[in-house]
Order: sequence, then C-alpha cells, then structure tokens
Amino acid sequence: METAVLEAMKEVHRTALEMSKRGLVAGTSGNCSARVTDMDLVVITPTSIEYELLLAEDMCVVSIDGEKVEGRYSPSVEINMHLEIYRARPDVGGIVHTHQTMATAISTTGKGIPPILEEQVFKLGGAIEIAEYALPGTMELALSAVKALGDRKACLLPHHGAVAVGSKVRDALLNAEILERTAHAFIISHLVGGPRVVPFMDITHP
Ligand SMILES: [Zn+2]
Repeated sequence: METAVLEAMKEVHRTALEMSKRGLVAGTSGNCSARVTDMDLVVITPTSIEYELLLAEDMCVVSIDGEKVEGRYSPSVEINMHLEIYRARPDVGGIVHTHQTMATAISTTGKGIPPILEEQVFKLGGAIEIAEYALPGTMELALSAVKALGDRKACLLPHHGAVAVGSKVRDALLNAEILERTAHAFIISHLVGGPRVVPFMDITHP
C-alpha cells in the first residue's frame, strides 16, 4: 500500500482513539476520516467496532466516488456525509463526526449557536448552523450537513451530534473541541443573563 495511505490510516486511527478518550464519542458512536491528498481516496473508521478495539489496519480505504478500495470491515454508515463534504470542500482534509454532549444538547433545540466567542469566530468561521433533520446514514443528512457547514469548520446535526472539519483530521478534532467549549459557554451563558454576539467591529486581530 502507498505510504500516504498508510500514514492516513495511522492518523485516522490515532484521532479515533483521541475522540473516544476525550469523551467526544462513546462506544461505537461517531466516526472520523482523512483525505489522501492527490489520490482521490478517503480513509475512514469502520462501522460498529468499539474504539478501544480498533487497530490502524482496520481503517477502511474508500474512493472519493464511494467504492471500497481496502479494508476488512465496512466503512462507517456516515460515509456519504464524509464524501459529500470532501467533494464540496477542497480545503477540507479531515472530518470528525461526534456525539459530544454540549453540542448535542443544543442540537435538540433545532437551533444553532450564534457567534458568541472570539475563538469560535476565528477558528470555526462564525455562527454554528444546524442541518435539517434526516435519519443517520442517509444521503439527505449528508447533503444537509454540507449545506449547514457552508464554508465554516463545524455544524450541528439535529437530535444527533456534530461535524467538525479541518485541513487535517487532527485539526478537525481540535475544532470539535472548540465547538464543545463554545456550546458549553452558550448553555451556561443563559444562566447569567444570556449571551451577546461578539462585537465584530472591535475585532482586529486574527
Ligand atoms: Zn452519529
């Protein structure tokens, strides 16, 4: 196998374990992937295997058109969502889909998160939008997630969880953590008078 593919398998495996360790997913929920640059390939976690039991060689290799190339397991059921995001966003090299608690709690309200933190605005691109509801694993959810993501780095999936993207899968994980801190701050801020949006005019540094 090509070195770039093997590297991507290791990177996706490492990020999957981190997602689990940091409490962004549990059991077999969530998934993550990396684009193999210049090869039209995507490496993604397999479906229905606990994170702790995963090995780097268990990662699935899929073409950008959705055909399985390598791997003894089936790819995550959210493979379409990952592929649609890679097709729509050439800048994205890695994706994590999580069931992180605070963002998921907000996803039950059917609303996104306004731009309330500087970190959120600078790193995630502003307001966090929420997708239209669709069942997990469907093409409707995939397309709706692409729309909610727009040109930003994260979005919510209603009654389900979140998606974060980055130039590498590791950056996507860090963005998922920024999203979780933002979601946490948003919830807590309602106990102390409610949040205000960042006054954009005052922001002059990147
Ligand atoms: Zn999910």
